[in-house]
Amino acid sequence: MLDTPTKGRSQPAVNQDTEFFWKGTRERRLLAQCCAKCGALRNPPGPACPHCHSLDWHTTELSGRGTLYTWTVVHAPLPMGFDDPVVVAVVELEEGLRFVSDIVGADPATLTIGEPFEVFYLDQEEGWTAPLLRRPSVGS
Ligand code: ZN
Repeated sequence: MLDTPTKGRSQPAVNQDTEFFWKGTRERRLLAQCCAKCGALRNPPGPACPHCHSLDWHTTELSGRGTLYTWTVVHAPLPMGFDDPVVVAVVELEEGLRFVSDIVGADPATLTIGEPFEVFYLDQEEGWTAPLLRRPSVGS
């Protein structure tokens, strides 16, 4: 069932702007920055609010639920750690942010724009946790 690697992936670059995000994935939480001045959410993380340029922010937890916005299948060159083509997708989260990751467990020929997807977490042998995308589980 699980057709995605648990080792060998490109590891995320962690800095003072992204450390909270990767700490959150280890705790199986999807976190985003929220501007302390205007309240705008932002993803990917960055040092300043793109709306009001404030440098003050806090984190907020996102639902991890959204709908498929677009996707592509990467056949070559395969990303590090992958032996098979990778479905890379953009999901529009319930909170309005877009999130990019790999789709796991779905044949790309069956994907439909707007269908529900959710974030799940897969620990990597190198000690970090990848936030990935899947169709929602029945009953969850
Ligand atoms: Zn702002």
